[in-house]
Amino acid sequence: MALLSFLGAIQQVTGSCYLIETHGGAKVLLECGMHQGRRQEEEGNRAPFAFDPGTLDAVVLSHAHIDHSGLLPKLVAAGYKGPVHLTEATGELLELMLLDAANLQEKDAEWESKWRARQGKPPVQPLYTRVDAERMLGQRTPHAYEETFEAAPGVQVTFFDAGHILGSAIVQLDIEDFGQTRRVVFSGDLGNANAPLMKGPTALRQADVLLMESTYGDRDHRDHQATIEELADILQQAHRDGGNVLMPSFAVGRAQDLIFYLGLLYQQGRLPQQAVFLDSPMAIGANKVYARFQDQLDQSHAQAIEGFDKGRRRIEKWLPILKSTQTAEESMTINRFKSGAVIIAGSGMCNGGRILHHFKHNLWRKECHLVIPGFQSRGTLGRSIVDGAQTVKVLHQRIAVNAQVHTLGGFSAHAGQSQLLDWASHFESRPELYLVHGELEKMQILRQALHERLDWKANIPEPGDRIAI
Ligand SMILES: [Zn+2]
Repeated sequence: MALLSFLGAIQQVTGSCYLIETHGGAKVLLECGMHQGRRQEEEGNRAPFAFDPGTLDAVVLSHAHIDHSGLLPKLVAAGYKGPVHLTEATGELLELMLLDAANLQEKDAEWESKWRARQGKPPVQPLYTRVDAERMLGQRTPHAYEETFEAAPGVQVTFFDAGHILGSAIVQLDIEDFGQTRRVVFSGDLGNANAPLMKGPTALRQADVLLMESTYGDRDHRDHQATIEELADILQQAHRDGGNVLMPSFAVGRAQDLIFYLGLLYQQGRLPQQAVFLDSPMAIGANKVYARFQDQLDQSHAQAIEGFDKGRRRIEKWLPILKSTQTAEESMTINRFKSGAVIIAGSGMCNGGRILHHFKHNLWRKECHLVIPGFQSRGTLGRSIVDGAQTVKVLHQRIAVNAQVHTLGGFSAHAGQSQLLDWASHFESRPELYLVHGELEKMQILRQALHERLDWKANIPEPGDRIAI
């Protein structure tokens, strides 16, 4: 019998990692994500892998987000030389994300080593370097959606569109052991069917074992149209108050959605600001990848919107007042705006990136508005602001949170509870169900909902649990 080990994103939302071992000796790693959030969780990134990377036959990756892919360069540095199977768009986005992650690791280690030197302590090594990331990128092996390939002897893999971000996949693994084939389906991150740019997640019907994400297992998102109206109101209010609007955002997925919504309001004459800054080199790069793979976006939605027609399909053209600030110098020019600007910058959970500089200039001003467009995991700066912190520490300074803080509930790139139940309900015979990628309380609520509405018993694995499949 083949074995599946739950190594990461178990009762939490980051560090996705699962290992499949067949009796015939094949070893396939599904995801190699980075832990993000609380310090002790991030320290987990430094722990040695729970397996010998040199013995893996293949790595399969659902999508480019760092919490699913961020430790791949470390895996390669630790001796993994085989293929990393992914979709073509994921491969391109991964290049942006991992080179950026490697630069951050190098800079952090350099900074910390400087401090340690003053205390007479030895320097720290980065988790991985740009060289490791570049070597890893050489191991990318792209596949089209719905094309089946053999990842390892007896392990056939097929990707299906998960509708979460460009290139995101639901991973189906057909595992042959002792002449029997067992099908494992891993949902990856499932998209929100209301998201404008992505198609809805593909419904699958057959599986023996199902691993389903549960980020929003406890609730449905706020009504989508109502959220657009709420955003329009915030923009009007900020215009009246004479302050800027800050939007911390993930560079891939969220930033493109925000540009879409701001463009929609612009086209309707409901965007009073003079400029929208996309202050994230990674998001600027991601826009280009989105433009290149536009056939994979939701065509029905794109065509329905004036201004999104052929030849004007690049996302930037949708919003003519969008200014992409690539360099640090360009970024600093934004500081001149005391009002009239919408600033989209990373990081999505405010624990790094250019958004911190904009916090320094705006967060203490009561006329400014901070729009939190998505989930903020525990231990992040974003979460403490959402939880009502009066002051926060930003770039070594304590700053008052006087800006008006708004949490928008309807723009998530993840399926809400009803959408998760709906996706799961397509499976014809009830597979063994394991909930992953979610905080424990949210999983418990989802488990209850699965029981009440679908009469389906879900399991919540513990970190390190291993099951026979
Ligand atoms: Zn994701």
